[in-house]
Amino acid sequence: MMSVTPFPEKKSTLDKKLQAVLDGEHAEIRNEAREFFSRPDMLPPQPGIPKEEYRELTMQWVNKLVEAGYSQIGFDAKYGGGGDAKKSINFIEILSHQDLSLMVKQGVNFGLFGLGVQNLGSAKHHEKYLNDIMNGRLKGGFAMTEVAGGSDVQGVKTEAVYDHATKSFTINTPNESARKAFIGNAAKHGEMMIVFAQLKMNKDAESEGVHAFLVPVRDKQGKILPGISIEDHGEKVGLNGVDNGYISFSNVKVPREEMLDRFASIDDKGQYQTDTPKKTARFFKMIGTLVTGRVALSVASLSAAKNALAAIVPYADTREVFGDILLNKQATQTRLFPLLADAYAMHFATRFLIDKFVAGSPEVETLAAALKAKSSDNAIRTIDEGRLTAGGSGYMAENRYGRMRDDIDVFRTFEGDNTVLRLLVARNRLTEIRKQFNDVSGLKKAIKMAGLAFDNATSTFDLGKGRTKESHLLNPAFQHDMFAKREAAMLYDMTQNIAKAAKKPGGAEAAVEKSQNDMIAYADAYAEKVMLEQFVKAVNEQKDPETKAVLKDVCDIFAINTMVKHAAWYIENGYMKPDKTRALADEAEKLHEKLRPNAVALVKAFGIPEALLSVPRPQAAVAPVKKTGTNGPKA
Ligand SMILES: Cc1cc2nc3c(=O)[nH]c(=O)nc-3n(C[C@H](O)[C@H](O)[C@H](O)COP(=O)(O)OP(=O)(O)OC[C@H]3O[C@@H](n4cnc5c(N)ncnc54)[C@H](O)[C@@H]3O)c2cc1C
Repeated sequence: MMSVTPFPEKKSTLDKKLQAVLDGEHAEIRNEAREFFSRPDMLPPQPGIPKEEYRELTMQWVNKLVEAGYSQIGFDAKYGGGGDAKKSINFIEILSHQDLSLMVKQGVNFGLFGLGVQNLGSAKHHEKYLNDIMNGRLKGGFAMTEVAGGSDVQGVKTEAVYDHATKSFTINTPNESARKAFIGNAAKHGEMMIVFAQLKMNKDAESEGVHAFLVPVRDKQGKILPGISIEDHGEKVGLNGVDNGYISFSNVKVPREEMLDRFASIDDKGQYQTDTPKKTARFFKMIGTLVTGRVALSVASLSAAKNALAAIVPYADTREVFGDILLNKQATQTRLFPLLADAYAMHFATRFLIDKFVAGSPEVETLAAALKAKSSDNAIRTIDEGRLTAGGSGYMAENRYGRMRDDIDVFRTFEGDNTVLRLLVARNRLTEIRKQFNDVSGLKKAIKMAGLAFDNATSTFDLGKGRTKESHLLNPAFQHDMFAKREAAMLYDMTQNIAKAAKKPGGAEAAVEKSQNDMIAYADAYAEKVMLEQFVKAVNEQKDPETKAVLKDVCDIFAINTMVKHAAWYIENGYMKPDKTRALADEAEKLHEKLRPNAVALVKAFGIPEALLSVPRPQAAVAPVKKTGTNGPKA
């Protein structure tokens, strides 16, 4: 049995200092939200709450957000909103610690529906609807997905046929497989849907492409309107506070004014008008405005990962195993600390994403897709490892690991399936870097100019004697070089392979299809590079020496473990030799031990109210155990 070296407990304000860094300029709204969600009427529901009760409770919570003035924050100030998207996302991030059904229900209602009206509509829609939506007087949803179409949303089969005599559209679901599927707020509470349909100028005309229409589905008494059929999806794996349903339309008349017409409209003469004649370009412009959802999902997934860490780290810090503390065990540290570092890295990356989003930067679509995929994958892994680290306690419903895992699971599928999003990331980056797949010289030149020479794969930092020394491995310049080279090399290889394959029958599109595995791997390399860069930037910005040192350790854990994960790639591509990847793995273990005393402070810094955390009760609480290396609270 291991001997336990007593480690003097020291009073530390590290958690508070770290929380100030994480909260940044939005400490006020984040603290307000923490207080709001700690109210007894906002606490997460008990395990096993029946579906219908859960749905009503979630609806009541949404109404409370309205009453408290939180649902309005992100909407246009001209119509009564707060006009502050950044503040709204920070609020949603804290909300996501409470219950993911509420996160999704309010996201459907105010985000997909409300901001959909704001972003896809024009002034007439804003004046007519926005104030009612943000103030909870009009509840709605977003009906895009169809049973057969799935991720291929440009191919939806629902039709909206225009008739100039009545100045209206007739909306129809042509067959069973064209039913709108999984639609949030459909089964119970939604009164109006943004419906995505192929617009035809007459029934025999060719489609002008996918357009969005405002379609009432229920009256104020909750009665389903004529021509609308709704079927309840019933119980789901998770998110059972949200009422998802199928919707079909049979000859539903919609006035011309109810087409959301920011990108195309029908004029008074009954002519179709658009500034973007290409259907696909128009579709992607329209979809591009809906990126808010992916930004929100990235931060909500991060909050879920933080919940799991904030529950498990203090547990492991007090849980006795074989006469020692669980968190002192190397295996536990290796299990949890890379995930803790991922959460910190994702935190800083999502700040970058939010800034780009509010600035309307063109790269936001790619960034949001990459981080949404990565953040939701990280969350489910973190929850799962948290559950395993808690042992049997983790399997008890009261500790919420099961619900958290079941709720976060679908974050990998909706608002863009993660595989589909990763393919989108790679496509966008390929297009950004080079317009033509059959000409790689432009990319090669650009990469060389950026100092990422490919002809000599070996890093300039990787030459000489000290290449496995700690000072080298923890050098931010070396770490950045490894991340940046990997991202650039993968992009370059992908381009070259596609360019070669594009000369074969099927051309560039077939070549892209045959590169999916590379594209998916690339998207994560892109996300990881952003995560490292933003983390390093955050470390450099710190003035307080203790905060800076601890964040540097966490950043190193992220950098080193990510390189270890990709060791095979680095070796195969000639960037590292096996002695170096072994040195990295050893360094990771050293860093985990170094981090151990600060682990509890690092998760307390998330600032998650105790009331929202279902921390497993350690049996260690009844039998005092000698503690080593912790600043955390006593059991
Ligand atoms: C709980 C829940 C709530 C939802 N809420 C809404 C809502 O409010 N409104 C709405 O419109 N939709 C909603 N959706 C639908 C959601 O957006 C879709 O489920 C999602 O887009 C994926 O579509 P799909 O389920 O048909 O899967 P598919 O598109 O059929 O995907 C199935 C599999 O195929 C893979 N795949 C797909 N395309 C490719 C490709 N090109 N290459 C390689 N692999 C591929 C995917 O990775 C996935 O593993 C919701 C879904 C759920 C489960």
